[in-house]
Amino acid sequence: MGEAYKLNCGRCSYSQEIFLGIGFRYCSLSTIQEWYEEEEGKKRIAEFIHHEEESTYDCFDGLYVCQSCGYLLNAIYLHMESTADSYTNRYACPRCSAPMPPKPIEYIPKDAELNCPDCGKEKLTVQAFMDWD
Ligand SMILES: [Zn+2]
Ligand SMILES: [Zn+2]
Repeated sequence: MGEAYKLNCGRCSYSQEIFLGIGFRYCSLSTIQEWYEEEEGKKRIAEFIHHEEESTYDCFDGLYVCQSCGYLLNAIYLHMESTADSYTNRYACPRCSAPMPPKPIEYIPKDAELNCPDCGKEKLTVQAFMDWD
């Protein structure tokens, strides 16, 4: 089950709802393949399904924090691994095009210190407001 959070900045108007964690559509590679949109990833999922018994994977909604401009991107993380192969999806920052870190945040800890991506001057307040699946 995943968790939804509201992020708010006390200084500027930045406000965003994000969804983190694992939903029911993430329970097998074949299910993921049905809704996964990005071309290369979809092709790679098919390859890993081919060797499903020897493959492991990790898939969840994560929060990518851009290391260069602080932009927060709520997107799907997908990592697959087999004895012969491995794949991790990657994103570029939509604001500054810098490569996002390979792994996003899956859970926001209570004492999280996220900087506001817009004004960069304030820590965001983080409020968990519902569970989703
Ligand atoms: Zn950026
Ligand atoms: Zn702000």
